[in-house]
Amino acid sequence: MMIYNKNLIAGCGLSGAVIARLLADIGEKVIVIDRKNHIAGNIYDYKDENGIYIHKYGSHIFHTNNEKVWEFLNRFTSFNTYMHKVIALIDGIETTIPFNINTLYDVFPKSLAKRLEEKLLNKFEYNTKVPILEFQKQDDNDLKFLADYIYEKVFLHYTAKQWGKNPDEIASAVTARVPVHVSKDDRYFQDKYQGIPLNGYTKMVENILNHPNIEVKLNTDFKEFASDNQEELKNFRIFYTGSIDEFFDYKYGELPYRSVHFKFETHNREFYQSNAVVNYPCNYDFTRIHEYKYYLNDESDKTVIAKEYSEYFENGKNERYYPICNDDNKNLYEKYLSQTPDNLYFLGRLGDYKYYDMDKAVERAINLFEEIKNG
Ligand code: UDP
Repeated sequence: MMIYNKNLIAGCGLSGAVIARLLADIGEKVIVIDRKNHIAGNIYDYKDENGIYIHKYGSHIFHTNNEKVWEFLNRFTSFNTYMHKVIALIDGIETTIPFNINTLYDVFPKSLAKRLEEKLLNKFEYNTKVPILEFQKQDDNDLKFLADYIYEKVFLHYTAKQWGKNPDEIASAVTARVPVHVSKDDRYFQDKYQGIPLNGYTKMVENILNHPNIEVKLNTDFKEFASDNQEELKNFRIFYTGSIDEFFDYKYGELPYRSVHFKFETHNREFYQSNAVVNYPCNYDFTRIHEYKYYLNDESDKTVIAKEYSEYFENGKNERYYPICNDDNKNLYEKYLSQTPDNLYFLGRLGDYKYYDMDKAVERAINLFEEIKNG
């Protein structure tokens, strides 16, 4: 049996950094390469000239119920106690989503809101989360009205902008991320642990990678590195966090992704909007506006915002952000996966072609490490 104690990790994002550190901690040597000129992948952030931490690839809010994941990350950073809320502008009214009991009172006249609240509480236990596609199955006329309202005002147009499709044409798990919440808890997440790393995500990843057994090489393409070091790599385990179709030179075709791009603006005033994220489900071409200073309470006379626009991923033009989960794409992914050579492991959003949140990416890296650590 081949004993590997050297590891090459392709991709220096959260998944790559976590598995690198876990291997380094048990005495293995690790090389982490990334073709980008920075670490941290899509959770990369930086402090700009105004002293504001900018999340270059869109807002990242850490949240988890997983004790192992929380403990692991707390070795490398402290988190603040920021609890994310999302404001949505519906018919010109600012309210919170996921749609919840407070939302009822924001958008409807009080008497109607009260009637709907009573009907909701008769039908569902308090604190129930109901995906919109389930919530649409109502017999009662008032609740049917409410379901149609939420479907149209929150999901229909936003999903068209975000995915180019109707909510019932995409994987149900996607819209289920933002369920109707029969509750007055209007936070975006209910997880036990939530927050933003006090010195930013990049610093957190830098600390994860800061180990004598870990060598990081940026501006380094996997294919070139692998062909330049063919002989040596025969004794390496390889962890690949890039897109699995690219690894196999797209031989069965491309796995599709959605991408996003951001239009950044700096404004000469303290705040631009009332919240870190404001969604525009029905208006404009962007899906949402991020205002970054809220996350770490950065103090500045100026503020930086980013308008987020969704688009298809096109190789060489933009970045991969969201796998498009449907049966055809899953089958294509499985076909690639079945070709995996012995000493190679795929992980991360792109390697697993899964819409992971940050904690799930960390959990996956920890579980993979547990599986292979003695091999
Ligand atoms: N969604 C929506 N309206 C909203 C917010 C979300 O229709 O105001 C749908 C949309 O399809 C989106 C999905 O719910 O892609 C998941 O939203 P989430 O905020 O979790 O997406 P992320 O922050 O990961 O981009």
